[in-house]
Amino acid sequence: MFRFVWNWNLLKTITFIEITLKEKGTDIVLKYRINFTELFVISLLLSLPVFYIWSGSIGEKIIIFLIQNALFYGLNVVITILRCNRLMRSTLADIQEHEPPTVSKEQQAWISDAARCDACGHAIEPRDKICPDCGIRLG
Ligand SMILES: [Zn+2]
Repeated sequence: MFRFVWNWNLLKTITFIEITLKEKGTDIVLKYRINFTELFVISLLLSLPVFYIWSGSIGEKIIIFLIQNALFYGLNVVITILRCNRLMRSTLADIQEHEPPTVSKEQQAWISDAARCDACGHAIEPRDKICPDCGIRLG
């Protein structure tokens, strides 16, 4: 299991996104958490002029302010989640298309043996920088 976080602007709506990948049998389970703090703050700021422009009562101003926020914030969140889902699905499909390289039992033994080349199994000396048989760089 590994986890990574990055700052990513998709419509400038995402403050950050945290993705967790987990292997479950032969499947990969991907979970992500999106933080929308910036979008929320921008939404509030963009809706503030309602209090100056709207000529109705303070109650009406508050209602319009809340509706405007719900629409702007809500729609952006929904669109972003839909886009993210699509992106995650296509990324996962790409990962699963590429099968991991298979390592034979014989090769596993070479890899754990410091006196053999990882690639071909030829006997090597600790001072060798390249395998005398297959020419791969040793390190
Ligand atoms: Zn070799």
